[in-house]
Amino acid sequence: MELKPLLRSLVPDQFAALVAEAGVPAYRAQQVQQWAFVQDAMQWDQMGNVPRTLRESLSERYDLAGLALQERQVSSDHTRKFLFRLRDGHTIESVIIPMADHATFCLSTQVGCAMACTFCATARGGLVRNLEAGEIIEQIQRLRTDLKTDPVPGMGDRQFNVVFMGMGEPLDNWEAMEPALQSMMAPDGLGMSKRRIQISTSGPAAGLQRLIASSPGVGLTLSLGGSTDEERHKVMPVPGRTGLKEALGLAADYGRLAGRRVTIAWVLIEGRTDEPEQAERLARLLKGHNFKVNLIPLNPLDDSKLVPTADPAVLGFQKILTEAGVPTFIRASGGRDIDAACGQLRRRRQ
Ligand code: SF4
Repeated sequence: MELKPLLRSLVPDQFAALVAEAGVPAYRAQQVQQWAFVQDAMQWDQMGNVPRTLRESLSERYDLAGLALQERQVSSDHTRKFLFRLRDGHTIESVIIPMADHATFCLSTQVGCAMACTFCATARGGLVRNLEAGEIIEQIQRLRTDLKTDPVPGMGDRQFNVVFMGMGEPLDNWEAMEPALQSMMAPDGLGMSKRRIQISTSGPAAGLQRLIASSPGVGLTLSLGGSTDEERHKVMPVPGRTGLKEALGLAADYGRLAGRRVTIAWVLIEGRTDEPEQAERLARLLKGHNFKVNLIPLNPLDDSKLVPTADPAVLGFQKILTEAGVPTFIRASGGRDIDAACGQLRRRRQ
């Protein structure tokens, strides 16, 4: 069955042409746009001030909602994990991670992923399809509605950050990411600051080059997985085809363009990525670059032999990097009592 495009896959600038085609006055574009991006409307009949004939003509060509909630898990640390069903029956995950003064939304960009990282549940089924821009935007809207209707106890305001760190490699779906970022940052879209948006990539060269060419100014996190090309290739077979030096060089180029420090994400897996020599080599690789490192102890999968590095070794790894002058932080993984590892909830439900 051929699906209609989602209304929210259009960027705000395209709404004027949309209503012009329907032969109605231009101010109607702003009304529809407000419902789509500000009021988070999921049904056409919510658009009370939009004439019925216009709603009907739009609904013949576009779908308003692309996601349906299939499951919601809440961790004892208030991390919330969502499984959404798409119109074609596939599922994706999104997560709300509550912080002291804001929430972080972790979003998916693809159904599955082609990057085959050994520590990741999403990798197991390969890539199914790319998400549309509207499916990316709607995850944000569904999550912010969830926070409005059920605020996290003790959490400050309703500000949220977005990290593209869920299912999929965002730079492998740039066709949707580019308009999604435009709508997120447009004042007449979601109106988000680029400071609140972070793309996390496994670092395929072609993807990093696309990011540099487009230069959206948002933050960048590069996941490495090894301190030599061989190590990286073992842990992250597909992104590992891009050499470490090339990936780091491209990330640094983007950081300079965006005027932002790039984050290096390093997943700590016992016996694989947590040897002191690896920390020393990593420090040498990063020397002279404006990078910081986030150490992320592995979120273990049920059916995997890979285990997270124990706390003393995490601190030891951090110490080596810090003493070499690399700013290094430890990021705890939230939601250990729910299916918080990327792709685990979806995999279990399949
Ligand atoms: S870690 Fe990210 S890039 Fe690697 S397979 Fe999983 S979703 Fe894809």
